[in-house]
Amino acid sequence: MSPNTYSLTAVSARDERKTIDVTFTNTHTKKIKPFSFFPSFYLPRTSTTPFEKILETISRPPLQTISHEYSTQVICKTWSELKQIAQHVHTNTNYFPNLIEPERQFLLTQKWRYFQTFDEKLQPLNKAFADHPLPGLVDTLHATLAGARKHNPKIEHELRERMVGSHELHVPYTDTPLALNEQLHTLLENHFFTHQRAAPIHTQKYATANEWSHAQRTHASEVFFHTPREGEGKCSCCTPTTSFHASIHEGSVIETRVIQDGVYIHTHNMEWSEKYHAQHASKEKRLARQKEFGLSTCPIGPLFRNEKIILPIHEAREEIKQGTLTAENNSTQTYWKCARQPFTMEKLQQTLNERIHVHETQQNMLTQPYLNQYQLAYTKHAAQDPLLQLHSLATRKTTEWVANLPNYGIYHSNPWTDATHTQLVERAVLRE
Ligand SMILES: [Zn+2]
Repeated sequence: MSPNTYSLTAVSARDERKTIDVTFTNTHTKKIKPFSFFPSFYLPRTSTTPFEKILETISRPPLQTISHEYSTQVICKTWSELKQIAQHVHTNTNYFPNLIEPERQFLLTQKWRYFQTFDEKLQPLNKAFADHPLPGLVDTLHATLAGARKHNPKIEHELRERMVGSHELHVPYTDTPLALNEQLHTLLENHFFTHQRAAPIHTQKYATANEWSHAQRTHASEVFFHTPREGEGKCSCCTPTTSFHASIHEGSVIETRVIQDGVYIHTHNMEWSEKYHAQHASKEKRLARQKEFGLSTCPIGPLFRNEKIILPIHEAREEIKQGTLTAENNSTQTYWKCARQPFTMEKLQQTLNERIHVHETQQNMLTQPYLNQYQLAYTKHAAQDPLLQLHSLATRKTTEWVANLPNYGIYHSNPWTDATHTQLVERAVLRE
């Protein structure tokens, strides 16, 4: 690493000067550079909650708004003014916008990270964890880590955890290390801010998640990232032409029309079966049919020609194949994948996978010289390399986040649970 490179080690908002001061350090020197920055938060765009009207009534402190596809961004000159506006919105609507501290907002907006390397002109480089001393450390970073490994492995472990957490989550390494769920919370917060999304006004919990079987839990984790949120999954560029199209989300329901008389649908879906049974006459006929065929759930029917019925997509497909129903041209409750634009949650998975790739590439590059020199014995030597260790921890942590995000999103209450997403995941899981 060139001695003239710098590491981004601290970020500090100066409300009185309306700047963000960024500290860049290397072995010999420290540079503090101020940047102009105005903090902001995002409000959902809705027709029912009059956020825009409320903002119009505020004359002090001054604010600016920008309309985005899914949100209205509210910008103030200082952090304290922004907090006042957030409080005002909360008093009038009971909605509290997600507030991210200005230092993190700045880094997310700049796409910079703690411990990223910068050249002598303070232009960002695609490298991290340079061998410079950190504020508060006497030795350079790698010497400190190597020394700690010898004398106090616990401290070495904690320092590495802090640095990787700070680099990946955009939080200062001097803060108390975050527990796994807090890390996941921060990841979601960062992702939504980066993509100009507000937390939904009404969150929706999973009503049945506690009763799911192991297989259902696994299935929920699989569909979690591939499920649209409110406003997604209905693009006009990819409207499916048939109800068998592979792009249709498996939690969708579709409207169908009956084309025979006296049709019964042997649904496996408890929710559908119970709802239909409670709301329709001919209860004895259905119960008799259930007994006759030994069905675990009460069937839907009897249905007659031209009657319309809404069904979960996979059950509708079975009936259409058998010629009892035909799909109606009504896509109100159908959601599909866009070929051009991934869903918000898919983007998060992609971003994390890209991070894994970045660290793996670094790991491979750093391992190569050890392999050449020590051949089969390379792992022992490579394991002593502090830089290699940091990248390997970053890979491990990011992989752990991808694996745990669905669980966090489903089983822990959090401000990003969105009604459309919850309903679709739940329906996909409860199909059988
Ligand atoms: Zn599309």
